[in-house]
Amino acid sequence: MKTPANAPSESHAVLSRRRFLATVAVAGAAFALPAAADLAPLPETDPTAQALGYKADGSQVDAAKFPKHTPQQQCANCNFYQGTAAVGPCQLFPGKSVTAKGWCSAYVAKA
Ligand code: SF4
Repeated sequence: MKTPANAPSESHAVLSRRRFLATVAVAGAAFALPAAADLAPLPETDPTAQALGYKADGSQVDAAKFPKHTPQQQCANCNFYQGTAAVGPCQLFPGKSVTAKGWCSAYVAKA
């Protein structure tokens, strides 16, 4: 069968579909959330981290300053923690990673 002169050929349609799928794949990769390993660790000296009393090691929390902190409260079981490993993202500190055994005063137990 002959294709009309100004109609896209079948091979053109296949190429367009491939180009579209490749574009979608690249765009998807660009918008994917960074893996925890790609995130810089949240320094305890970060102004917001300091204000919230963040400690990468929850056992180092100043008990006098944060009397409500308990050893059971850790980033790993905080509602804002989005990691599944020893380090992971926290919704309060975009672009940084916190440690699973860390803590800050914004801690909210996972429901
Ligand atoms: S909000 Fe939760 S997960 Fe984030 S640093 Fe504080 S205790 Fe850790």
